[in-house]
Amino acid sequence: MTRTAEDRAIVVLGAGLAGLGFAREIPTARIFEAKPHPGGHAYSHETAGVAFDEGAHISHTQDAEFRALINNAAGRVHDGQARSVRNYWQGHWTGYPIQNNLRDLPADLRVRALTDLVLAATQPAQPSNYREWCLANYGSFLTDEFYEVFTTKYWRRDATDLATDWLSGRLIPSDLENIIRGAIGDDVADQSKFSSFQYPESGGFFGFFEQLYTDLDLSLGRAATEIDLNRSRLSFASGPDEHFEILASSIPLPALIDAIKDVPQSVKEAAKKLRHTKLRCVNLIVAGAELTDSPWCYIYDHEIDAARVSFPGTLAPASIPAGTTAIQAEVFRDALEPWGDRDVLAERTVSQMANLFGFDPAHDLRAVDVVDCSHAYVVSDHNRASAAAHILDWLETNNVYSMGLYGRWKYLWSDGAYRSGYETARNLKAAHGIG
Ligand SMILES: Cc1cc2nc3c(=O)[nH]c(=O)nc-3n(C[C@H](O)[C@H](O)[C@H](O)COP(=O)(O)OP(=O)(O)OC[C@H]3O[C@@H](n4cnc5c(N)ncnc54)[C@H](O)[C@@H]3O)c2cc1C
Repeated sequence: MTRTAEDRAIVVLGAGLAGLGFAREIPTARIFEAKPHPGGHAYSHETAGVAFDEGAHISHTQDAEFRALINNAAGRVHDGQARSVRNYWQGHWTGYPIQNNLRDLPADLRVRALTDLVLAATQPAQPSNYREWCLANYGSFLTDEFYEVFTTKYWRRDATDLATDWLSGRLIPSDLENIIRGAIGDDVADQSKFSSFQYPESGGFFGFFEQLYTDLDLSLGRAATEIDLNRSRLSFASGPDEHFEILASSIPLPALIDAIKDVPQSVKEAAKKLRHTKLRCVNLIVAGAELTDSPWCYIYDHEIDAARVSFPGTLAPASIPAGTTAIQAEVFRDALEPWGDRDVLAERTVSQMANLFGFDPAHDLRAVDVVDCSHAYVVSDHNRASAAAHILDWLETNNVYSMGLYGRWKYLWSDGAYRSGYETARNLKAAHGIG
């Protein structure tokens, strides 16, 4: 006999977008979330009335159903153009991506970059790591001066330590005609994954999702600490234990494995191999409107802590107090690296932003806030795929359904994280005969 979802104790760990997608497919599922708010990494934090995201977030989803869902939930949505994204490198502002905008470099460097690119294009290549992929696609000048520098700031390791399985959809492969056009000042064909994007007019990126949590069975401030699969019991840092019949989880795989009792040693070892970065957002509100028209920019210099800087006012112009600019500087570290003194990094970042965007911190700074994210990007090193697959196989045989960005331990955009949740719920309904 088909049982309904109401008959079953279906429990979800984590109320990010994967948890949201799951619970919208099975609304009777009970969601337990460690933080005092839902949204996970898609949450937006308020500083002096301005919503700042956990690192630059925009929607460029190609999934029409998801797009309609989140646009309706947001109400009013602003359409933005990615064309004005900029790079900063050693005192030069250039277009993005650098290989298609060589005209912005001084002539001697343009020649070096072009020569290396053409040489690379004539060599056969079968890259086995990210550095080799960059050398094959961009040549040695751009690899050493741009991509390697950025890798050490963003991924916090050498490019040789990264695999190539994360590149599709995130980096643009070289196209010689575009590169030459960009070098001589011609118009370049748009090669980017997306040329336009959407952002809520208010509430930050979380404005897309906030309404969708209404009516879900959500318990906040409940961090799962122990999972007993034999007794089907969950314990939390606070609050009573809970029983589950079916368990889905979107919490990071290492935390999940750490919480489950009696995990085989090989699975524990695999969990230790998973690496991720963490993120410190330095959020500023500065007097002076229109300090830039870029939605965000990438910073390639080692001397500047931030790897990426975004401007919520160009994403949602109406959401920023008149006569001010909102700036978010993103600084990344490996999860195991210490942050050092919070105030020192914040002060240094304010002064670096002041030099870059031309404001006077003593007079123009209206507000500054620091928001830390313990999990930023999953690091696609050479261990990631096999270690994650080993853990996920074991979880599956033990009927634990792991989903989402950190639950699959694989980069997912917001639409992918949501889809991972609702597809997990659909598969589970089919497998358990839930009507
Ligand atoms: C810096 C950055 C920028 C990004 N920019 C974009 C972008 O521009 N566009 C886009 O589409 N996507 C972007 N993404 C991706 C997007 O943010 C994610 O795909 C999505 O938010 C992940 O949702 P999730 O539910 O899988 O994970 P999460 O959001 O991490 O949700 C997991 C939840 O589990 C909770 N949790 C953890 N431990 C426990 C526990 N023990 N007990 C209970 N709960 C727990 C967490 O608090 C969290 O709420 C970006 C990601 C990063 C890192």
